[in-house]
Amino acid sequence: MKPETPSFQPPEDAQERRRVAPVICYPPDALPAPDIAALSKLRDGAERCASVTVPPRDAACIDVKAGQFFRILSVDGPQVGDLNLWSKDDLTERFYSGKTRALHGTHLSTGDRMWSSFPHMRPMGTITADTLDWYGFDAFGGSVHDVIGTRCDPYTGRLLSGTDYHHCCHSNLTRALAGHCDLPLDAAEAHVHDVLNVFMCTGFTRDTGQYFMKASPVRPGDYLEFYAEIDLIVGLSACPGGDCSAEHSSDSAACYPLLIEVFNPGKAARAAHRKPAPSGYDRSHGAG
Ligand SMILES: [Zn+2]
Repeated sequence: MKPETPSFQPPEDAQERRRVAPVICYPPDALPAPDIAALSKLRDGAERCASVTVPPRDAACIDVKAGQFFRILSVDGPQVGDLNLWSKDDLTERFYSGKTRALHGTHLSTGDRMWSSFPHMRPMGTITADTLDWYGFDAFGGSVHDVIGTRCDPYTGRLLSGTDYHHCCHSNLTRALAGHCDLPLDAAEAHVHDVLNVFMCTGFTRDTGQYFMKASPVRPGDYLEFYAEIDLIVGLSACPGGDCSAEHSSDSAACYPLLIEVFNPGKAARAAHRKPAPSGYDRSHGAG
């Protein structure tokens, strides 16, 4: 956080320096755009083939094949979900929240991709529908579905409150992945990563740049839908913060389940799908 009273005097041209216009780091037109219209058409003909309910203050994992769609659906009441994605073939290829943020901005919606970690760096999923896309940015600078948070976790909880809470999203995802892949807890924990905060409404305060959250605008029936670009394990935690209007890392908030539904567009459509190739960078890093 920036100090209220700076230690150093501003230079004479301080205002001039501040007035320099920003440049977008990664212009979006440099990225190949997904064909959302074609994907929507494919989605229209897809049939629901699997689902899993994520219980409140807990997590679940489900496999989604390349060329299938999955939908995260709000049921019963306003609830935020913390999403992790892993490649089914290699758990070390996982969702890279920071690079996705750099490419698409702080909050995701239809047409944005979820990119995987180095050295793979390819789209793992493409967002094809978002019933909260009407929200935009509110007067506080808040918006929905962020890639700026990390996930609630017992380590930060202990640091800030001195107590141990075991149903944070980090722990929920750890237990769910361990169960799904038959891994010991500590091995599974190493694969849990920074999330897409589904339905969460967040931003940075304009004056101090602090990370804030506010009550999610999500209501039962709202959903965020993805097209799986590669074979995935999808992990979702129903955050103990509920709608994240007050606090997380405790049992005090009202929490509701979330539903993950998988839709199959059919054999022919899936056979026509081409998985994105991993990055072509040769990984020599300039050595020799
Ligand atoms: Zn959480």
